[in-house]
Amino acid sequence: MATINDNYLKLKAGYLFPEIARRVNAFVKDNPDAPVIRLGIGDVTEPLPSACRTAMIQAVEEMGDRTSFMGYGPEQGYGWLREAIAAHDFRSRGCEVDASEIFVSDGSKCDTGNILEIFGRENTIAVTDPVYPVYVDTNVMAGNTGAANDKGEYGGLVYLPITAENDFTAEIPQQKVDLIYLCFPNNPTGAVATKEHLQAWVEYANAHGSILFFDAAYEGFITDPAIPHSIYEIEGARTCAIEFRSFSKNAGFTGTRCAFTVVPKDLVAKAADGTEVQLWQLWNRRQSTKFNGVSYIVQRGAEAVYSDAGRTQVRGLIDFYMDNARLIRQQLTAAGMGVYGGVNAPYIWLKTPNGLSSWDFFDKLLHTCHVVGTPGAGFGAAGEGYFRISAFNSRQNVEEAMRRIAERFSS
Ligand SMILES: *Cc1c(COP(=O)(O)O)cnc(C)c1O
Repeated sequence: MATINDNYLKLKAGYLFPEIARRVNAFVKDNPDAPVIRLGIGDVTEPLPSACRTAMIQAVEEMGDRTSFMGYGPEQGYGWLREAIAAHDFRSRGCEVDASEIFVSDGSKCDTGNILEIFGRENTIAVTDPVYPVYVDTNVMAGNTGAANDKGEYGGLVYLPITAENDFTAEIPQQKVDLIYLCFPNNPTGAVATKEHLQAWVEYANAHGSILFFDAAYEGFITDPAIPHSIYEIEGARTCAIEFRSFSKNAGFTGTRCAFTVVPKDLVAKAADGTEVQLWQLWNRRQSTKFNGVSYIVQRGAEAVYSDAGRTQVRGLIDFYMDNARLIRQQLTAAGMGVYGGVNAPYIWLKTPNGLSSWDFFDKLLHTCHVVGTPGAGFGAAGEGYFRISAFNSRQNVEEAMRRIAERFSS
């Protein structure tokens, strides 16, 4: 009989969002008339910018004419999109990133998982706690961990707690770790990293020959001008960091699918025989072999994000969500809760009142306010006692949800 990848059996059952869905469905079944508002899953709600739609419609028309029809494109993405990204996301901020170092893909989720393929199995891997669960589960699948303990922590991974006590920025580890996942602005805590904090990580990584996986999916939500948008704003990052970016959250591409990964040509890691190998070359080989590029139509839509109209519309979308975040912060603060995030990120991370566990608070909010959020414990052991509220929703839903919470929790 064929055998399986046994690493999959180490994955914890009852993954966060299915468990939330189970509890919400059970509640709705018993209370069919309760007007439930979902401020849980991190998906956008507002429609695609018209600049992107117009560009995609035009691209569909091109596909209908044999003279402008497009077949397979470059696996790394079309040059015009990679050039637009290099100019607008990097050169405009003083970062040295060449278009050839940008790999367009159909999502950051897959890229953050796939990147492990070009690394060895003996690396020590660090993640923050709480963490975007994809980083952990893809390492489990790849065989980079042992089994999970009672708290859901996997053997072999180094967990770096991010809590109110350290301003939600992980302390630089004392020991040597080889691969480090950093997500700023952070999902789920909504925290950001200062230039000094990122500089310390870059210095650590360059000193130890470590690689930083920098997930900047939420950079578009940064409002504080002092906060870096890219790891390449930090001197020395080209020799120690891979950056993941996505059009999902800023331009509403969660259902359209387009993202990109930056692998600087200066990055190297060690082969078994001790020689240094360029990571760009390996990732280019991996993508060319296993990926056939993002749809021409979608890449034209992504290119339009950088047009004058596209930039204005994306700014409008982000401002809309950040106004939601401001409302949420105000109302929860007024209700006496400890509130973090929501200033440079679309997530508000709150301390559960009265020391409730994060799942108990989830149940209480669902049953008394009919509002769904995400229990912090679902993102890791150090997320216990915290709760994530997402600003991705209509104004009406946010206002109504906050009205109910204020009514229920204000003394
Ligand atoms: C939403 C999100 C992404 C983007 O994923 P896509 O696959 O590009 O939609 C990446 N990282 C984090 C932490 C996210 O929350």
